[in-house]
Amino acid sequence: MNIAEDIRTILTFYRTLGFERLPLKFSSKFEVQSSKAKEDEHSGANPSIVTRCSSEDKKAAIEELRREIGDCDRCRLSEGRKNIVFGEGNPDARLMFIGEAPGREEDIQARPFVGDAGKLLTRLIEKMGLSREEVYIGNIVKCRPPQNRDPEEDEMATCSVFIDRQIRIISPKIIVSLGRISSQTLMSTKVPISKLRGRFFEYKDIPVMPTFHPAYLLRNPKDKWLVWEDVQKVMERLKESGEQI
Ligand code: SF4
Repeated sequence: MNIAEDIRTILTFYRTLGFERLPLKFSSKFEVQSSKAKEDEHSGANPSIVTRCSSEDKKAAIEELRREIGDCDRCRLSEGRKNIVFGEGNPDARLMFIGEAPGREEDIQARPFVGDAGKLLTRLIEKMGLSREEVYIGNIVKCRPPQNRDPEEDEMATCSVFIDRQIRIISPKIIVSLGRISSQTLMSTKVPISKLRGRFFEYKDIPVMPTFHPAYLLRNPKDKWLVWEDVQKVMERLKESGEQI
């Protein structure tokens, strides 16, 4: 690939991910076959570009997205938050966990899933043979709703464009959606989580496994085995796709 093709590919990568300008730092180590580099601006990033680009480029794109969000006041959740909880983990993760919104502890620490429910999620990830650093963890909305109420439709509509872009940048093999709100938002449905969980759905061609939210499990520990059943299906699917777990 010559330099002009490299540059064209990089520009395509960032444009299809919704960026209007290039990040300050980016790598030119794309492993893209130019014949596969046709973009579809209406359906999102071309997976052949995103999945084959370097982890450095994904990291740079994630950092650029965080800069773009800035000190966001695009919805009313900005009014009561202490911190934006952007999400964290490996920008090149095979597995993404997506919850609904930060809670009190997350708001204080500006990190997702660090309270009691987060500790349970961390234990689950470790039981799967992974670490938090190997996966990516985010939420549908990035600011804590007052008194931990459910995020409202307009707040989710405004903020979920960012988690959508994180998904498109990271391009994971599988997403685990944690709880009703995350699952219903990604599936565009109102079907209860008890009926959604345990079966794979798709979000923009990425398999999604809905399961119960760790906060629900703290209140209903007898259902932990259902979540374990769900993540075992995730591990099997990753192994089938040739991914190490
Ligand atoms: S919830 Fe999202 S859209 Fe709303 S203020 Fe926070 S970062 Fe911005």
